[in-house]
Amino acid sequence: MSSTLFGFSGDFDVIVIGGGPAGATTAALLAERGHRVLVLDRERFPRYHIGESLIPGVMVPMEELGLVERMEAKGFERKYGGTLVWGNNEVPWNFSFTTGGRIPYAFHTRRADLDTMILDRARELGAFVVEEATVKGPVEENGRVVGVRYAVGGLDGVQEARASLVIDASGQARVLGRKYSEITWNEQLRNVAVWTYFDNCHRLPGDEWSNILIEGTRDGWFWGIPIDKGVFSVGYVTRSDVASKSDQSLKELFASELETTSKLKDLLRDATPAAGYRTARDWSYTNDRFHGDGWVLVGDAAAFVDPLFSTGVALATLAGSTLSKIVDKILRNPQIEEKALDRYSTAYRNFFDDIRTFVEGFYDRSKTKGFYFDLAQQINDPDKKNDAQVDFVKLISGLSGRAGGLFDLSLDDLIENVGDVEDVKDPSAAGN
Ligand SMILES: Cc1cc2nc3c(=O)[nH]c(=O)nc-3n(C[C@H](O)[C@H](O)[C@H](O)COP(=O)(O)OP(=O)(O)OC[C@H]3O[C@@H](n4cnc5c(N)ncnc54)[C@H](O)[C@@H]3O)c2cc1C
Repeated sequence: MSSTLFGFSGDFDVIVIGGGPAGATTAALLAERGHRVLVLDRERFPRYHIGESLIPGVMVPMEELGLVERMEAKGFERKYGGTLVWGNNEVPWNFSFTTGGRIPYAFHTRRADLDTMILDRARELGAFVVEEATVKGPVEENGRVVGVRYAVGGLDGVQEARASLVIDASGQARVLGRKYSEITWNEQLRNVAVWTYFDNCHRLPGDEWSNILIEGTRDGWFWGIPIDKGVFSVGYVTRSDVASKSDQSLKELFASELETTSKLKDLLRDATPAAGYRTARDWSYTNDRFHGDGWVLVGDAAAFVDPLFSTGVALATLAGSTLSKIVDKILRNPQIEEKALDRYSTAYRNFFDDIRTFVEGFYDRSKTKGFYFDLAQQINDPDKKNDAQVDFVKLISGLSGRAGGLFDLSLDDLIENVGDVEDVKDPSAAGN
């Protein structure tokens, strides 16, 4: 039952499929706890990915990974809030992350840089990372997933690696979810996105300088993200049926809808195109199962919600951080696997559902900002302990949740039940 990989032989504690933010965070924090972790990603990093704007929730796992100073040093632009042309409000309105309390800013990034930084950190902390390694499918024994089959670019044949647990962090490819879980598509959020980059863009004035701009149009909305210097990432999101019924291509739709914007058009008045157009299906979904015998899902591989509030990377890394702590305990106490993963799955779904419910409500642009604040309060703070605006900012910062925080799950009662209480911080005591 052993695997050989470039001279490394033996089984792993954990195999992670995909080295994006979810997989790399989970792998890094498990390796830091002394576990033998193999990460397989089909791409060579740095690789392009859409999703440049972050929210404060991401700073919790980035701090844990020791990456905040590196993000600053890399020159990622600090993001303090957002400017919205949205709803039945007469003027653009703003939100500032400071209103939400604890973490007042996040960053705009180039994802190739951010994702490489997290994956490199996983390597530094001891994870074994193989790039250009495409996972073809799971290895099963007696109904349990015990490893994966994968092919490495440039090498003949398919290899096999085995582990106590396989984590699927393969994003929308859903390598294991596709096989073991049904998917529920969110009918209201069956969207499509088209985006490109512009140079020489103007910035929003004053305190709004580094805000993300979100501007609604008749059938969709635009994002405008100041990535660095004069460069903006600009994307248009509309319903799939609107796009398919239109006689315009997505690129033409982008151009004609851009003409109908006010604020965004103004920022782009002297802009020059800096890249071609890219498109993606942008359908929100949830897997019906987040885990099974020997496997568990994290990040987009588990669930995906429309990028209206730039929540994807925060969700992926918060869930990855949470999962790393849970898997650490499972590896020391294998008897708790099913119950522990149930608990992870419930907390993750609750956290995700709150954001999804809010995004669905926010898509109704006939309302005023007071309505959106109240909606956030109903979801987040039904006892109205905070001002509704504070609840709104907390929610879109990724810093709230019914579960009392996705990242703060206790399993102590489960471990006590198996009579095997151990200190999570001390891997040497684990004997694995
Ligand atoms: C249009 C659009 C705009 C977005 N904007 C934002 C935004 O502004 N901010 C934000 O936070 N989020 C945004 N997102 C969402 C965000 O990009 C994702 O939520 C985030 O990348 C999820 O991270 P992940 O690690 O789960 O998946 P990914 O980042 O997709 O990583 C998955 C990895 O798995 C690898 N992989 C796939 N299949 C295999 C295989 N068979 N074998 C081995 N490896 C495999 C891939 O190569 C990839 O590196 C946006 C999404 C879309 C569609």
